[in-house]
Amino acid sequence: MSLPACPQCGSEFVYQDQELLICPECTHEWNPSEVADEEDVIKVKDSNGTLLQEGDKLTMIKDLKVKGSSMVLKIGTKAVIKRIVEGKDHQLDCKVDGAGDMMVTAAFVKKA
Ligand SMILES: [Zn+2]
Repeated sequence: MSLPACPQCGSEFVYQDQELLICPECTHEWNPSEVADEEDVIKVKDSNGTLLQEGDKLTMIKDLKVKGSSMVLKIGTKAVIKRIVEGKDHQLDCKVDGAGDMMVTAAFVKKA
């Protein structure tokens, strides 16, 4: 089993000391299982079941009414995910083309 590179300086000379991984170049120490757990916290999928990440480009798969306004995001409107949050309805904090920043429901988009 090969060890991952140091997340702080990218060194490949990482060694293991019991639970911890240690970087000899910048002395960074971390627990790899804790890092993995953090990444697991929020998993949001688009309408096709594709896992979404911050920075992903999206398109709307249907016309979406914007809550509290008369604006409609047309099908095919593009957006970029700025942040993924935990939530029942709106998991994606997006920058939407022509509409600015807003929360979008993952089930109504697909990864572009
Ligand atoms: Zn390092």
